[in-house]
Amino acid sequence: MKLFPFLGKKKYPLTVPQNQHSMTRRDIEHSVLDILGRLRRSGFQAHLVGGCVRDILLGKKPKDFDIVTNARPQQIKRLFRRCFLIGRRFRLAHVYISHDRFVEVATFRAAVDPEQVPPEGARFAANNVYGTIDEDALRRDFTVNGLYYNSADGSIIDYGGGLEDLRKKTLRSIGDPAQRFREDPVRIIRAARFCAQLGFSLSKRDHRAAIECAPLITQANAHRMLEELYKILRCGASAGTFVNLKKFGILKNWLPEIDPDRAPDLLARLAVVDRMRSEGKEIPVAVLLSALLYDLFDEAMGAKRGFQESFTMLHQRFTELVMRLRIPRKEWDSISNLVARQSSLERIPDPRKGKGFEKRFIRNAHFWNTLMFFEVRADAAGSHEAELKYWKERAARAREQEGGRPREEAGRPRKPRRRHRPQGSKPANQQN
Ligand code: ATP
Ligand code: MG
Repeated sequence: MKLFPFLGKKKYPLTVPQNQHSMTRRDIEHSVLDILGRLRRSGFQAHLVGGCVRDILLGKKPKDFDIVTNARPQQIKRLFRRCFLIGRRFRLAHVYISHDRFVEVATFRAAVDPEQVPPEGARFAANNVYGTIDEDALRRDFTVNGLYYNSADGSIIDYGGGLEDLRKKTLRSIGDPAQRFREDPVRIIRAARFCAQLGFSLSKRDHRAAIECAPLITQANAHRMLEELYKILRCGASAGTFVNLKKFGILKNWLPEIDPDRAPDLLARLAVVDRMRSEGKEIPVAVLLSALLYDLFDEAMGAKRGFQESFTMLHQRFTELVMRLRIPRKEWDSISNLVARQSSLERIPDPRKGKGFEKRFIRNAHFWNTLMFFEVRADAAGSHEAELKYWKERAARAREQEGGRPREEAGRPRKPRRRHRPQGSKPANQQN
């Protein structure tokens, strides 16, 4: 990252011309440049904002690109052939750049006072919802997420000292942190993740506010929290995020069952997951959640554990937790299966007993998730090396014999069907 010599005479908003920062058009995907260009040629402003600007300035590859504009949703829709509007009150445009990827194009938001937001279902005027870029900036969470790249001239507009905070590796709320965290306590979880992901420290004032506001997390929407949990487990820095969540007082209010200081292998398992993610590996949700929750399951299953016994016990003991976290039934079924099957991988089957069990075990729908999670555990604990090698060889052989993947393999990403219209965001199976 370049240093920013002009920061001496801070005056916000600060516009930093193209030749004084390191982000260029080459950092931006062609299809994104096309969208920005079309918006501009139609007379609208078109900026990039958020994680993409932040990550490019830090020299990292951005995960996706978010566009903001003064065009209203219907105007955006008219400009692009493959464009769908989502959301009720605040409408967002998803502009498809391939059959399963889209770029989010949002109209600048107005700086609405949360107290004045009309109740759900009430009529509202568009002027209350959509605003100017200046208002939009005030709604953003952290200064480093409030940097705008103006596609018209390549300048960067910094509303709250984001450039200086990037240089200092500090995460800081825009405005009064206690007020921002009270408005939306999920921002504390985002802070924990960004600090771990970017190697940043939370500002002292934000840190105090986070601890003060952490109990409010119990009031946050449970579905949104589950999405945040998925983001954490996929972000490549989940171990560091959980350490931060404990430090900020969030863990005891969100997942009191989990304590990195009491679960010896938890952080090691998360570190293995993080390494796999940084190598670009897709990990099924069931494996990610098992990596997080395994200590609870392991303790409950005890030493002597057959599959059926363990499976039943997991359902008896943890259904309440699973419902509280809003883990979907399908994932819970997958988790309980792969966890209850772990003990079968912990030993090499006796060859005198025939290959019947082994064949059935490998052909089972849950085998691949079971093996992937066994690998996470074995790597984390530095144990079961021989067993892991054995099962991986058997699995590879079975794959060859079947001429590809075993018939009943489950939970692995499949090739999308060509004409399928995706439901999810960005790359369909990789939301944030
Ligand atoms: P990531 O790399 O995780 O995608 P991101 O900063 O792009 O990081 P997103 O969740 O994609 O995060 O959100 C995009 C932008 O929207 C953020 O950079 C921030 O400006 C704004 N934003 C998202 N969530 C919030 C929130 N809860 N409060 C305020 N602003 C938010
Ligand atoms: Mg993003």
